[in-house]
Formats: sequence, C-alpha cells, structure tokens
Amino acid sequence: MRIVLMGAPGSGKGTQAQRLVTELGIPQISTGDILRQHRKDGTELGKRADAIMAAGKLVDDATMLDIIRDRVAQPDAQRGFILDGFPRTQAQAEGLASLLLELGTPIDAVVLFEVGAEELVRRISGRRTCSLCNKVFNIYSAPPSSPASDCVAGSSEHQLFQRKDDQEDTVKERLRVYEANTRPVLSYYSDSGLLRTVSAEGSPDEITKRLRAALAASGAGASTNKARPARRAAARKRAATRKPAAARARARKAVRRKSASKPARKPAKPAKAKRRVPRKPAKRVAKRKSRAPRRKSKR
Ligand SMILES: [Zn+2]
Repeated sequence: MRIVLMGAPGSGKGTQAQRLVTELGIPQISTGDILRQHRKDGTELGKRADAIMAAGKLVDDATMLDIIRDRVAQPDAQRGFILDGFPRTQAQAEGLASLLLELGTPIDAVVLFEVGAEELVRRISGRRTCSLCNKVFNIYSAPPSSPASDCVAGSSEHQLFQRKDDQEDTVKERLRVYEANTRPVLSYYSDSGLLRTVSAEGSPDEITKRLRAALAASGAGASTNKARPARRAAARKRAATRKPAAARARARKAVRRKSASKPARKPAKPAKAKRRVPRKPAKRVAKRKSRAPRRKSKR
C-alpha cells in the first residue's frame, strides 16, 4: 500500500506513521532524512543538493523527485511505503503522480490528520526540551516525572526550556505558512479522489483506529464513485504508454472484422449484435492490460 500522510506540525502524524510502519511492514520515506544521508555519503544526488544549498536555494522539485525515484526502487519499498513530509507543493504532487504512474505503482491513499488550530497551538506550545540531552516533554500530554520541571529528577543540569519554534507566536506563524503551502496540495488530492480526512484529536489509539478505517475505505475506495475518474484516467494513460499504437490498431481491426460477419449469421437481431460485439472485447483488452500490474502490487 502506498500512502501519503499529511498534517500540520503537532498533528501527531509522525507517531501514526511509526505505527503504520510496524503494522504494515512498509518503510516510512522522509525526504529530509534521505537528503541528509545522500549528502553525508557524497552521492551524486547529495553533491547536487550540496551545490543548490550552498547557493542559498531550496532543493528543486526535480531533485526531490529523483530522490523519491531512487528510494521507491529499493527492495524494502516494493510492497509499499509511507510518504511523510512530501509532497509539499502542487508541482511536487503532480511530479510524484507521473513518476509513480510511470512505475505502475500509483498512490493508494492520502490521509490528512486534522486538528483545530487552537489545539495545535496548545500542543506545540506545551513542548519543553531538555537543555542538556534534548529530550522532549509536553506539559499536557507527556510531562516529566517528578519534580515537574526537571528532565532527570534532582539534576540542575537537565533544565527544561521552551524552544523558540515552540513559542505561541512562532507556532501561529508556522501554522499559517503550513496552511498556505498545503492548501493547493490538498485540493489537488481532493480533486483526484484520493484524499481521506481523519480527526487527529483524542488519544493516539483512537486516531490509529480512524486511520485504519480510512485506509480500509481507500482500499475499497477503488470502487467509490469519487475515485473512479482518476483511476480510469490513470489506467488509460498506462495502457496508452505500454501498448504500441500498431498493436492497438490491429486489435481494433480484428474486432471490426468479426463484427462485420456477425449480422450476416444472425439476421434476427442485427441492431443489438452490431452494437454489443465491437465494443466489449476492445474495452476488456485495454482494462486487463492496465489493471494487472496494479493488482499485483496492491497486497
Ligand atoms: Zn535531560
């Protein structure tokens, strides 16, 4: 199963992604982590990213997509993967769609973790970080054990503080930026019928339950009306790219030849036979060709 997870900072998306990794046995793909690794290993991609970043620019969509292409080809991603933090723009979402279409492994579901703005601000501004060991606590959901303000009880060196990023004003700005960037991506996935929204308020277990239900609905969602046009379009495109035009023309001709002889043999109902025979076989051939690789990879 190939899944894209989306959600604001503080939506708990990371926790849920980790649970999915364990449950489904597929890797979580974080473009940030991969990029760091490529740069560390000095690969060609890493060098390209280094040059871009040295020039003070953001890594471009083409480079990001190359990273994804490289990662999804790894053996552990053959049964699926969880994308977290990508795509961030509509251009990336479109690039990802055509890359996966080319590989014959399209996205199965996009899940948005939805949390009200007030709750997000509360969650993030509740974070406290240890100045010595960087351990993160949350005064609301994961407070340090006694005494209330120490990371390690009784140690004056393990002092908890609030990072600038987690202060209320900064959080509000971060959320504003997130909203502005993400909205086009969400409407893109909504239009393609892939988007599922899950309420991410409540306990992590409750959210996991909702996430499972959303993913199950996406699996069955192949037959919902919303998902159909996008899947059909994808199937058509796949069929068109895989089968040479000449072969398709031959198939059409063969069908036509068959239908031409039909009315002569069955003069009783010429109209019906004429309409049915030429259409169905042609459609079935196209469908089978395009669906086979998808079904295989879906497990
Ligand atoms: Zn500490």
